[in-house]
Amino acid sequence: MSDDPAHLAVTDQIRAAGDHAERLLIASGRPAPVRTTPEQAPPWFRETRAVMLRAEEDGSLRYCGHLAAPQPTVVLAEEADRLVCWDCYTEAQALRSCHLCGGPAGTRSLYGGVEAVIRGPAAVYSRVLCQACAEPAGPRGTFGNGR
Ligand SMILES: [Zn+2]
Ligand SMILES: [Zn+2]
Repeated sequence: MSDDPAHLAVTDQIRAAGDHAERLLIASGRPAPVRTTPEQAPPWFRETRAVMLRAEEDGSLRYCGHLAAPQPTVVLAEEADRLVCWDCYTEAQALRSCHLCGGPAGTRSLYGGVEAVIRGPAAVYSRVLCQACAEPAGPRGTFGNGR
């Protein structure tokens, strides 16, 4: 971490992109993502973020191709080595697989799957579970009918 103005400007842009992501979530009829400290975050968030950071470090991190300037960026738990833009995130919803069993989670409908969304320091992190996995896993999501 440094205090130089360039770094701070980038941090501000990232924060603004996070605010934008939050507004988009709310505009799509969903609650704002949960904010949490790394210590309080559920394991899936820590694991997803670790995969993303590792990929960033070793240069294997991929991008969806629409990400240029800082903008709302999403990390999908099932593909944590790739950053996607908001449109790709939205389009992926119907086809996403359950993070536990790999089966279809069908989250186009809020009630099709159970999605948890956490706002990380830069990106928004999202995990979906199918109904079958969400029920025994308990209320670990942040919204959808599994809460
Ligand atoms: Zn994209
Ligand atoms: Zn499942």
